[in-house]
Amino acid sequence: MVSADCVWMNGEFVAFEDAKVSVLTHALHYGTGVFEGIRCYDTPRGPAVFRHTAHIDRLFQSARMYFMDIPFSRDEIRAATDELIVRNGFRGCYIRPLVFRGAGPMGLYPLNSPVEIAIAAWEWGSYLGDEGKLNGVRARVSSWRRIDSASVIPAAKATGQYLNSINAKVESEKAGYEEGILLDTRGFVSEGTGENLFIVKDSKLATPHFTSDILGGINRHSVIEIIRDLGYTVEERDIARGELYMADEFFMTGTAAELTPIREIDDHPVGTGRPGPITERVRAIFEDALHGRSERYAKWNDLVEVPARAT
Ligand code: PMP
Repeated sequence: MVSADCVWMNGEFVAFEDAKVSVLTHALHYGTGVFEGIRCYDTPRGPAVFRHTAHIDRLFQSARMYFMDIPFSRDEIRAATDELIVRNGFRGCYIRPLVFRGAGPMGLYPLNSPVEIAIAAWEWGSYLGDEGKLNGVRARVSSWRRIDSASVIPAAKATGQYLNSINAKVESEKAGYEEGILLDTRGFVSEGTGENLFIVKDSKLATPHFTSDILGGINRHSVIEIIRDLGYTVEERDIARGELYMADEFFMTGTAAELTPIREIDDHPVGTGRPGPITERVRAIFEDALHGRSERYAKWNDLVEVPARAT
């Protein structure tokens, strides 16, 4: 169970144990929420949130797609998050802003229910384990397909949509794998349960496009930039399942998983079965960027501003 001293809720800092909602919260019944997963790193220049503004922009975008007006500005949310980190005494942490339809008229029509917002933060290590992050994880293609644009909005990070990832996660864990890979409804590779995917073949990289109903990962975006800066090509395109078996290297990116190699897919070793050289090269630069050790990518380290009243 994660914990912290306080949570920011609807404009106020409240004790962790007092951050509560009604059982008639619309989002609890119908999944009408949108959220973010963000990490703050202890960098040489102080705590810095990785691409904080990009995450806040995606939160607003997700909210807009489901007709939710967030009752705070982007700047207010950023300042509240910074203050939350300081008040909790964190230097590195995971941050979870959640915008949701609260208690209002019951029934499916959500637009008359209030839009509430909470931001929680806690200390969280590597999502798929230190060993997995270092040496790679074993993944398998899920029997569940990625939710598609005919039914929901895959580009929105919406709470209800995560039952799809949860189905794949439970299936893969029960079968003894660390991660499940979802195909899109056409049968092309889409993403992991909470990560975007990259393959390397003959020193060329590829990653599924939005047409495979991916969530547009902020780390995917950063890693594409790093790859291109290194002089490699990375194509956004349809990827056939079989390409996973033929890939020299295979890795995934996400805020929780950061950059995690995949060492085995559907019981086939990927390449040599060890993280490959391009994965390692990209990962080293990406890790430096996350931890504020890279001058080139310092633009991504949004330093936590200590509010005057919290010191
Ligand atoms: N896909 C899904 C379904 C996710 O939940 C996440 C995590 N937010 C990602 C991809 C990766 O996105 P990001 O790099 O922004 O964390």
